[in-house]
Amino acid sequence: MNNYDVVIIGSGPAGYTAAIYTSRAFLKTLVITGTQPGGQLTTTTEVENFPGFPEGIQGPELLQKMRAQAEKFGANVVTDVISNIKYQISNTQIKNEKEKTLFTLTGSNGIYEGQSVIITTGASAKKFGIPSEEKFRGKGISYCATCDGFFFRGKQVAVLGGGDTAMEEATFLTRFAEKVMIIHRREEFRASPIMVDRAKKNPKISFLLNTVVEEFYGDTALRGIRVKSNMTNETNKTNMTENLELDGVFVAIGYVPATGFLKGIVELDGKGYIVMKQKMEGMQTATSVEGIFAAGDCVDSRYRQAVVAAGMGCMAALDVERYLQK
Ligand code: NAP
Repeated sequence: MNNYDVVIIGSGPAGYTAAIYTSRAFLKTLVITGTQPGGQLTTTTEVENFPGFPEGIQGPELLQKMRAQAEKFGANVVTDVISNIKYQISNTQIKNEKEKTLFTLTGSNGIYEGQSVIITTGASAKKFGIPSEEKFRGKGISYCATCDGFFFRGKQVAVLGGGDTAMEEATFLTRFAEKVMIIHRREEFRASPIMVDRAKKNPKISFLLNTVVEEFYGDTALRGIRVKSNMTNETNKTNMTENLELDGVFVAIGYVPATGFLKGIVELDGKGYIVMKQKMEGMQTATSVEGIFAAGDCVDSRYRQAVVAAGMGCMAALDVERYLQK
């Protein structure tokens, strides 16, 4: 049995920062990487806004440095996916020793035990939910420009969404694709002005606004999408549907938290984000279960930044230290 002071589920900035702090505090620390070791940043290109890297740093390199820093202080890192967490109060025979909660985590490759748990499982790309989306997934539809952009050299692609991810992915895709069209359902962008500005200045990028995607079509691979204008202005009211021939579509419409396995274990909100409970005074990363803490994008639906996740990871580690001393 693998027994730890703290088991951290997830290996993004929140997980590794928590591991740096707990292992440096001499807590026996395990990081369980999950299906995508390193998390979302491993599918990002250059990270320009993480403090300390004025020239920018590649996402995977940043994560590799965080991992090395955690391992330097003694954290163990294993590749596994946790499907369940059980907990019990141990009946200690030793006089005066306080009751301890022991968490048992079931993974695909093993069982892990910890006196405490930090959940930092992050979030993953949201799907459109149109039936034809699944059919062409990996056959023209992608959720990660960094991963798949290379396959669209000299092609025509669309990026769906109006947030920072859409702007970033579109800009990145111009390295490969001949033309990139950003298709967004509104006139205004959720993306930060600097990212929109960069996309607008790129001669390979065009915009199709007030437009919703109705269907993805093709045969063995995606050939295009059917879109519908949703302009409500009377003079411009088109409400027309049209087919756009495309070689690829990159969906960039936001994220859903990776918390499915936690249903019935810790309290989640309506969108699946972990609810913070502050059960013990001042412990802002506490969940509904005493001894289980959470940090990063699986908690934070608002800021979703690597530096915020790292900061929350630090908070969770400090909360765990106090919890274990209790
Ligand atoms: P987001 O900010 O939530 O934007 C999602 C976009 O997709 C919105 O424009 C939204 O439209 C659209 N959308 C959502 N559901 C849709 C649907 N069913 N059909 C059509 N369109 C839909 O998500 P994000 O762009 O992935 O960004 C997430 C967070 O990461 C943000 O905080 C962002 O700042 C951050 N981020 C930062 C960077 C960077 O700084 N380098 C890069 C990437 C992401 P509406 O606007 O109409 O709702």
